[in-house]
Amino acid sequence: MSEPARTYAIVTLGCPKNQVDSDKLEGTLSADGLVPTGNVEDADVVVVNTCAFIDEARRESVDTILDLADRRRADARLVVTGCLAERHGDELAAELSEIDQVAPFGVRIDTGHSSVPVNLGPTRRVPDFDLLNLSRPASARPWAYVKIAEGCDRACGFCAIPSFRGPQRSRTIDQVLVETEQLDAREIVLVAQDLASFGRDQGVGERSIVPLVRQLTGLVDRVRLLYLYPSDLGDDLIDAICSSGLPYFDLSLQHVSAPLMRRMRRWGDGTRFLDRIETIRAREPEAAFRSNFIVGYPGETEADHDLLLEFVEAAQLDWCGFFAYSPEDGTYAMSLSGEVEAGLRDERLSELREIQDSITAGRRDLLIGREVEVLVDEVGVGRTHREAPEIDGIVSLPHDLEVGSICSVTVTGAMGPDLEAS
Ligand code: SF4
Repeated sequence: MSEPARTYAIVTLGCPKNQVDSDKLEGTLSADGLVPTGNVEDADVVVVNTCAFIDEARRESVDTILDLADRRRADARLVVTGCLAERHGDELAAELSEIDQVAPFGVRIDTGHSSVPVNLGPTRRVPDFDLLNLSRPASARPWAYVKIAEGCDRACGFCAIPSFRGPQRSRTIDQVLVETEQLDAREIVLVAQDLASFGRDQGVGERSIVPLVRQLTGLVDRVRLLYLYPSDLGDDLIDAICSSGLPYFDLSLQHVSAPLMRRMRRWGDGTRFLDRIETIRAREPEAAFRSNFIVGYPGETEADHDLLLEFVEAAQLDWCGFFAYSPEDGTYAMSLSGEVEAGLRDERLSELREIQDSITAGRRDLLIGREVEVLVDEVGVGRTHREAPEIDGIVSLPHDLEVGSICSVTVTGAMGPDLEAS
């Protein structure tokens, strides 16, 4: 009588890029003969793929590790991987004896019974165990994230990611096309730390994001791009995105005040951003926009804040995220004076969120009575080109629409970020 297969459970924290890494980890665990279980309590191997971007994320990661340590079977292995394992692997291994293995990037999960030592230090070198190019099972949903590069070559003042994810390492266009075919999804959501710089590190002198989008457009129904650095949003990329039939622009702006942008070591300002947005709207009036902003960066003045308020009003973006500045060890911002008092920062945050919530609701209301095309993600739930999965609103749909189908419906109502259609 053969032994029952050993089982694993993976808990994923953080961003869509981590979700892709977890999908690939699943592939390796299956290759090692393990089978998935939905219950952490039943698993022989419990893996937590952590996030370490900001303090809040690190706290959530440690809380999750301790919770899983309590819930797992006494003889089950607890493996910690992802950004916290990469960034604070030594401390984790030293302070949390509950952990059986700390597996930073490039270290294979050991499903056996021996602990594997920690090895740190980001390089452009391809790690022995390279998640980036591992194969993945077909997508269980009609859409899927595809990670097209690892790391980042920029040095934004508030960001520690390059210090633990390393310099940018892009895949080849062929590798992305092969994975896209494997996934067999109708919508592909491209992710990377600095998406628009894709291919720039491959010594071809120019980036490859435009040819990639054009080739994917011929392969899948929908191609969506997340994390676009504004200086790289040239006319060729705008044209490729609009021609793909999914005019969705996720612009990573972070702020709009020129002096503050310089302190953030980032390109641009509100005037140039508005100009790009207007250029896109002239090219494609149905274009949808998302952006993220940091509030409370060292040195932020009332005048900087007023500029951001004016910009949000003027830009009328569909979706915006506003985040409190989080001091990160090893970043340039840690050396800056001009700390913004927490109460003032939170006041500015809620002022911005209130304005944006009414802008988002207003733009949703404008769609009532319109015919729109949706991808049915699950029974009764879909998305038009205006909504990215898991971060924007949804469209409530009749339950008889087939999951995975793309169909035309009429918007009958709006409730804040979400729509109703039939
Ligand atoms: S582009 Fe800037 S914010 Fe984004 S990962 Fe790179 S350094 Fe960090």
